[in-house]
Amino acid sequence: MRSHVVVVSTGGTIATRHDPEKNGDVPVVSGADLVAAVPALHGIGEVEVVEFANIPSAQMTPGIMGRLCGVIESIRSRGDVDGVVVTHGTDTLEETAFFLDLCLAPGKPVCFTGAMRSADHPAPDGPHNLLCAVKCAASRALRGYGVLVVLNGEIHAARYVTKMHTSNVTAFASPFWGPAGHVDEGVILARPPLVRGAPFSPEKFAECVPILKAYTGMDAILPDALAAIRPDGLVLEGFGRGNFPPGIVAPLKRLLDKGVPVVAATRVPVGRTAGIYAADGGGAHLQSLGVLQSGFLNSQKARLLLMLALGDSRDARALADCFKEIEVLPEQSASVFIA
Ligand code: ASP
Repeated sequence: MRSHVVVVSTGGTIATRHDPEKNGDVPVVSGADLVAAVPALHGIGEVEVVEFANIPSAQMTPGIMGRLCGVIESIRSRGDVDGVVVTHGTDTLEETAFFLDLCLAPGKPVCFTGAMRSADHPAPDGPHNLLCAVKCAASRALRGYGVLVVLNGEIHAARYVTKMHTSNVTAFASPFWGPAGHVDEGVILARPPLVRGAPFSPEKFAECVPILKAYTGMDAILPDALAAIRPDGLVLEGFGRGNFPPGIVAPLKRLLDKGVPVVAATRVPVGRTAGIYAADGGGAHLQSLGVLQSGFLNSQKARLLLMLALGDSRDARALADCFKEIEVLPEQSASVFIA
């Protein structure tokens, strides 16, 4: 039986063309036209298109992510569908993919893709990315992997992937774990899937969870200003292992005393946060005050996890468990398989 993949288009560079009047690129290409531009897709199976949006991904919000999740959930529940591809701007692709990964049960593949070059670029990367993503979405072997990100011949787990380059076609990487697999001339090679926790509800999340980035010499002014907006939670992006200048300790304590959960992430692209340093503002000091560790999650992903976790429970232990569970290791196995 031929496979059946649904492409849900949301916009981004893959759908842009240059607009001479606006003197810039704008998303104008429909999902149907993206698919029509890649005749090789028909060699994989039937491709159906759902036009969800046509926006630059800087306009994506957690609310839209929640609605997208509902649309994908209902598409995946159809008996005739093997998998789903989401085309998305690369700027915030990792956030939408991660949000959906936290909310969708593992099952039929959901593969995000996009492009670094516009549809009217002399050498666009979108068509090849779409071809690889549809191939992965059609694959029975990739069921149970959770949400995947397929670009430039690489398959990444939404949990680990991040955008590493502003313009190069090799823009995406999973800095800590490496890619989950590859698409090589139409052949899928992948590691075994990850062990995954229970999904969250895409409709229930805390709205006000800002990210505050640390800098040398930082004092109490910004953290105190943030407290005035009464955040539901806060993600701090610090140095190294998740260390901060001593100036933030007093305002942080005031927030923690009010019951606002705080998560420490790092501005370093690779590696985990950990409570190592005991100096004022050091990771171990903040941990002793009740600050949670983001582990290998970058600040933007830690924010989404905190938002969804807060939608579920405000209990401090439950929140801490969410951040522990996300770090559950992939099942140990040296084997790869070819689908
Ligand atoms: N530069 C972005 C992209 O690659 C634009 C966006 O994220 O919408 O798609």
